[in-house]
Formats: sequence, C-alpha cells, structure tokens
Amino acid sequence: MDLGAGRYAPSPTGDLHVGNLRTAVLAWLFARSTGRRFLLRIEDLDASRVRPGMAARQLADLTALGMTFDGIPVVQSQRDEAYQAALAAIADRTYECYCTRREIAEAASAPHGVQHYPGTCRNLSDAERVERRRTRSPALRLRADGARQTVHDLLHGDVSGTVEDFVVRRNDGVAAYNLAVVVDDAASGVDQVVRGDDLLPAAINQAYLASVLGAAPPTYAHVPLAVNADGRRLAKRDGAVTVPDLAAVGVDAMAVLALIAKSLGLPAPRRLADLLSSFDPDALPREPWVFPGNRTR
Ligand code: GLU
Repeated sequence: MDLGAGRYAPSPTGDLHVGNLRTAVLAWLFARSTGRRFLLRIEDLDASRVRPGMAARQLADLTALGMTFDGIPVVQSQRDEAYQAALAAIADRTYECYCTRREIAEAASAPHGVQHYPGTCRNLSDAERVERRRTRSPALRLRADGARQTVHDLLHGDVSGTVEDFVVRRNDGVAAYNLAVVVDDAASGVDQVVRGDDLLPAAINQAYLASVLGAAPPTYAHVPLAVNADGRRLAKRDGAVTVPDLAAVGVDAMAVLALIAKSLGLPAPRRLADLLSSFDPDALPREPWVFPGNRTR
C-alpha cells in the first residue's frame, strides 16, 4: 500500500544554511514518522539564479546529516513536457498578462510569486491583446475568479484565503514555480508538504491549482524559519551557517544535527533516525529559531 510521500525541494542557488537544513530535517521527520516515502526535488527553473554544481553540494550536505531519499531526484528543468501538458489542460482558465514586475507593486517583496495582482490584463479585448503582444511576450495567469481556498496545515490548522490570479507560465515560456510545484507534487504522489512558513500564502494558490488539475491538495506543515540575532531571516552573511563553513570552524555534521535537534526541543541524536522516537509535531516550537550565530566580524 502506498502511504504517500513527503519531499524536500531546494533551489540550487546557494549552499543550504542551518535554517534550510532544519526545514529539511523536519520534512524528513514528518515523512518518515508517518511511514511516507521521502523525495528530493531540484527546483532549478530560475536559470539566472542557479549555480552549477550546487545541487550536488546540497545533496552532499543533506546526506552528511544522515538524510535518505527514495528514488532519484526530480529535476524541474527536465520536466517541461509535464508542465506544458498541465498548461494545455487549463488553457481555458488562463489569460495572457503583459504586466512587468515593476508594474505590479507588491511583486518585489514576494519571491515565490504570491502577488496581489490588480487584474490589469484580466479582461482585455482581442484587439488590445494583439496590440500588447507587439511590445512584450505575455505570461499566463490562472483566472481564479476570486475563489476561496482552505488548506489544512498541521501547525497552523485550517487556513483560508482568496486565490490570486497567479502566474502559471512566465513570459519566457517556462513554467512558473507555482505550477511546477503542483504538477510535480501530484506526479510524484506527494501528499505531505513541509517547508518554510514564508510559503504559507502560496499554499492557497497551489492547493487551488491542484484541485483544478484534478489532484488532491496535500497536507501542509509550514515550519518557522531561522533568523539571526537581529530577528532577520538567516543568510550567508551571518557568518558560518553552512555545513562546509561550520566544518571549517570545527562544527561537524553531527554537531550541526545536534544543534538542529536542540532547536526542536529534541535530545542530541547519534544519528538522524534516533530523532524519530522523540519527534512530536504538536510539541514543535512555533516561533522562529534564533540561530545563536558565530559572527566573527
Ligand atoms: N524551492 C523552494 C525553496 O527553496 C521550496 C518550494 C517548496 O517547498 O514548495 O524555497
């Protein structure tokens, strides 16, 4: 019997830091503690931000912590056919949008595509579309008609929101993140999505798109992010925060795992699987994890 799957889906744009690794550990624990398979997906559709060799480094760091994955990783840049098929299936529910990011004010602060789109291109006439196409190739947006969607989150409970007319195909023809995630999760049997809570708003759109595509939306667990001593999202500039950098200052992978376990209120394990017996989703901290840090400058 297939008990479903969880996954970790990093973008290979830089080394994973302890906050990312903590999210990965949580995703692994949620999946394995419920008998699910655990998959790795490489989210490399944003070619301008992808760094060569980074996916392999990320996998090495995850493996160093003792993480195990089922099957071979799904690589989004190799899945265009599946995305185009999904776009074809929803063609009567999408419309062309010619707006630039700049024109959509909020886009800049929403890296994962949750934009409060003002509806500029929703009801253009054929003539207007012909005109706009001359100056810019269009993205495609899903026509959501202000639908309401509820997602079930293991940490946040039932969360409801209004679905945006979000971008499903970028204006360079490549599938948008929000479409690729949904298509891939459905195709790989992912029924449990554990990731950072910055993506909770995106879940409303993604769950809606899953239903439109005839897939059951997954159960979510959006976990708190790691922050630095100033309360800002942890980043590379916060000192030694990656596995290689921490190793260089004498903190090996098992010590990183112990640190992550401590942040989750769990005893230091000898190996990752030891955490399974003490893992309790209901007892997880709900606040951001303040990484103690080791800034030397
Ligand atoms: N690739 C996204 C990230 O690195 C995660 C997307 C997801 O888990 O759905 O933030």
